[in-house]
Amino acid sequence: MGTGNGVDIVNQDPELITLHHLINLYLLQTPRGPVLVDSALPGMYLWIAARLRRRGVFPRDLAGIVLTHFHLDHAGTAALFNRDGVPVLAHRDEIPILAGEAPHPGYGGAGGKVLLAAERALFRRPVFSHLVPLEPDVPLLDSDWTVVSAPGHSPGSLALWNARSQSLLSGDTLITTFGRPRGPVPLYTADLRRARDSARRLLDLEPLRILPGHGPTVSATRFSKLRATLTPAAGDPCREAARR
Ligand SMILES: [Zn+2]
Repeated sequence: MGTGNGVDIVNQDPELITLHHLINLYLLQTPRGPVLVDSALPGMYLWIAARLRRRGVFPRDLAGIVLTHFHLDHAGTAALFNRDGVPVLAHRDEIPILAGEAPHPGYGGAGGKVLLAAERALFRRPVFSHLVPLEPDVPLLDSDWTVVSAPGHSPGSLALWNARSQSLLSGDTLITTFGRPRGPVPLYTADLRRARDSARRLLDLEPLRILPGHGPTVSATRFSKLRATLTPAAGDPCREAARR
């Protein structure tokens, strides 16, 4: 697999690069070259680069890295790819957070506050040199994949939707844990109500399969029961926590 152009290439399925399904990255082919979706945790650059090389892709060959959102388990190494001249693409609403111009929106509830404090103590904020805002409802780099807004887990969370193959790259808005489909995890979610709304809207696209930020790729039918649970009821403790 190389960086060439051509219809045969843009129709290829995304390639999964995964750490035991705890962290998933996807390699997409676009008319402008290969694109990596998400960039794992800080410290995983060499791990990613080795897996790209096995697929014939050098980091500098990438046409871009798309971040489904700014959380460190997705944006952790992207600044290092920036250093190689690879642009980092994210939803326009996520750019100010990545650029350090808007504050971290926080996670959910009291546990989220502890998590954020720990994260700040352990990690330095990545500094990006080349951030590119993505507009929603527009094809990603002329490919079959469309950028879809999925705010809530973070303000500018995005998903990528391929209407041709009915595949959904869902970031952390829809994930699987030990094979169990689930919506956004309250502890890590800035606005749970919005995130659940987004999750419902993603399922409304009627995907055939879901390629999540965490957990194995699954048939979307596995998510059908989940959909009914994605409307937060009044007094839902998760909802109140997310509102802080
Ligand atoms: Zn995540």
